[in-house]
Amino acid sequence: MGPGPGEPAGDGGPAAGQEPAASAEDLLAQVEEAAHPSGPTLEERTRIRKEHGLDKCPRCGSSDIAYDIPQRALVCSYCRYAFNEPNAHEAFGFTSPIQDLRGVTIGAGSEDIVEDQDVVTLKCQGCGADVVIKLEEQLQSRCHWCRQTLSINTQVPNGAVPDAVLPFLLSREQAVEKVKEFVGARRTFADRRFLRDFTPENVLGVYMPYLMVDANIHAELAGTGEDTVRTYTERVKVGDREETRTYYDVDVYQVARKFDLLVDDLATQSSTRYHRDRNESATNYVLRAIQPFDVEDALVYNSNYLTGHTSERRDLDIGDIDEEVVEKFLAIARARAQPTLGKYDRGVKWEAEGVSVRGARWVAVLLPVWLYSQYDGRLSHYVAVNGRTGQTMGSIPISQPRAIGASCLVATIVTVLAVGGGILSMFA
Ligand SMILES: [Zn+2]
Ligand SMILES: [Zn+2]
Repeated sequence: MGPGPGEPAGDGGPAAGQEPAASAEDLLAQVEEAAHPSGPTLEERTRIRKEHGLDKCPRCGSSDIAYDIPQRALVCSYCRYAFNEPNAHEAFGFTSPIQDLRGVTIGAGSEDIVEDQDVVTLKCQGCGADVVIKLEEQLQSRCHWCRQTLSINTQVPNGAVPDAVLPFLLSREQAVEKVKEFVGARRTFADRRFLRDFTPENVLGVYMPYLMVDANIHAELAGTGEDTVRTYTERVKVGDREETRTYYDVDVYQVARKFDLLVDDLATQSSTRYHRDRNESATNYVLRAIQPFDVEDALVYNSNYLTGHTSERRDLDIGDIDEEVVEKFLAIARARAQPTLGKYDRGVKWEAEGVSVRGARWVAVLLPVWLYSQYDGRLSHYVAVNGRTGQTMGSIPISQPRAIGASCLVATIVTVLAVGGGILSMFA
């Protein structure tokens, strides 16, 4: 056993060190540089919003407009005119090939916090959440986390106006059925008190804030891989008896991989409430497990899509989540390198890894979730339904003897996360 020869030619990329991989710090610097984005400016975006009707009916000028799920359109309650905002990716010119991306482009809604005059953000007196609602709805709105009625006296500054919104496709009735199905399938091990108080009709439509990125990335990984060349056994004397010992002859190789990656619509939560560093609850996992969303169908933001729903305030900027995003890029890169490592039967340990971003474009988007919450006096439990696909996940309390079942459930959710992230293709 000992260090083997260098990696054979033809098996993988050139050795590390020719062109040092960019570090996470370099990416952070690139994000910092993006303070002067080459994407649509705030003025351009404001113009796009104004041109597309903003909050008035394009036919009669009324401002009494709500999103109608069966018609999949904004509908004016006076003249019944039905319309939609244009596709956000097209409106912002985000349809060009990802491999052509250079530099960082940021949708104006992903930039600094800008006030939206049509919505108001209220702090829930029950659980402390910041809940965004349409201005005229404050009297009947409830917190989507704890169902407390919201009071206008608890107004706090708004979060940023998003670039895009993906409207609900699933109706309230369909969401109620999904929540019932989810809990029904777990009835045998669910906590009895939870089942007694279960009221699926309380489900609320919530728009969750995400920052989405398309990225043209160069990834470099370097480390050591081990390949077993011979296995043999030997009888050895230990004290007064003999035992069989197995020996392995292993070649150790320097392994490096360098390749380009295109990442499409990688979505990251942009609300402090779910930030991985601060969230102790299962809510994070539940919300990630109902992905993916068809974000390519998101429309230019118009606050009328929020009518009848609440939304979470986006209070995290790109600079707050970039470390998390770099980690996701690295996880995608490691996963892409894996199929090329078959030779190393004892595995590869990466000792240096980095990504450099050739180009990226960011969009701030609201994604639709039907959220059922139930508070048991100590903890809130949630069932979340993807407002587009109906994909459902929840964290419901279980009766104690079945606790092992619950930990399995969490493990399953984490597995789903690990393979997440939209990868278009890889060039070797
Ligand atoms: Zn009208
Ligand atoms: Zn609340």
